[in-house]
Amino acid sequence: MASIQMKNIVKKYGDGFPAVNDVSIDIADGEFVILVGPSGCGKSTLLRMIVGLEDITSGDMVIGEKRVNDLAPRDRNLAMVFQNYALYPHLSVYENIAFPLRLAGAKDEEVDAKVREASKTLELDEHLERKPANLSGGQRQRVAMGRAIVRDADAFLFDEPLSNLDAKLRGQMRSEIARLQKKLGITTVYVTHDQTEAMTLGDRVAVLKRGLLQQLASPRELYGNPC
Ligand code: ADP
Ligand code: ADP
Repeated sequence: MASIQMKNIVKKYGDGFPAVNDVSIDIADGEFVILVGPSGCGKSTLLRMIVGLEDITSGDMVIGEKRVNDLAPRDRNLAMVFQNYALYPHLSVYENIAFPLRLAGAKDEEVDAKVREASKTLELDEHLERKPANLSGGQRQRVAMGRAIVRDADAFLFDEPLSNLDAKLRGQMRSEIARLQKKLGITTVYVTHDQTEAMTLGDRVAVLKRGLLQQLASPRELYGNPC
C-alpha cells in the first residue's frame, strides 16, 4: 500500500484548454478517494496519469516515496480494476486470481499460498473451481480485486466500474466495494459521474469541473448528512 500525491498536475492535449488544470490532491495510505464530475471534466485523464497510461504535461505524481512521472505502468505497482472485470471466461476463479502471479513466473507454492489467502479474505474460497459465468456480479468483482491483492498492489484504481449495471446490482456492488475496501484498507481511487457513489463510497470526494479541482472534502461536508 502507498499514498498518492498529485502536485500541480496539468494535462494538455494540443493547444486547447487543459483537460486537467493544476490539480493537487494528497491521498493518504489506505484512503478511498472518489473523483467525481460531469463528462469531460478530466476524471479519466487524471486516473490514467496515476496509472501511467497518459503522459503528464507538468506537475509531480508521487506514489509512496517515489516520483513516478517517467515510470511505465508495469513499474508503478498499481492495480486497475476494469469495468466488466476483464476475467478470463475459460479459467477457474483460482486461475483467474493466480494469473498475474503465473505471468510473473511465481512458483506453484507461492501462487497457491497467495491465492488461498486472497480468496479467504474475499470470501471466495468455496468457489475456486467455478468459472466466471457461474458467479454473481459481486463475486466477479471480488475475483477482479483478488487479482490485484495477490500482486500486493499499492493501490486500486477504478474507472466507472458500475456504469453498465442495472440499478439493483449497482446498489449491491456499491456496498460490496465499500465493505471490501474497508476490510482490505488499500488505497483506492475511484472515478464516477454518479452522485450516489460519490456520497456513499469514499472517505473523501474530489469534485472536478473543466479540469479544475473545485472541491475536496468528505461526503458529509459536501452533501450533508444523508440520515
Ligand atoms: P471525463 O473522464 O471526466 O469524462 P476525460 O478525462 O475523458 O473526462 O476528458 C477530459 C477532456 O480531455 C475532455 O475535454 C476530452 O475531450 C479531452 N480528451 C480526453 N482524451 C483526449 C485525447 N486523447 N485527445 C484529445 N483530447 C482528449
Ligand atoms: P501442477 O499441475 O502444477 O502440479 P497441481 O494441480 O498439483 O499443479 O496444484 C498445485 C497446487 O495448486 C495445489 O496446492 C492445488 O491445491 C492448487 N491448485 C491448482 N489448481 C487449482 C484449482 N483449480 N483449484 C484449487 N486449487 C488449485
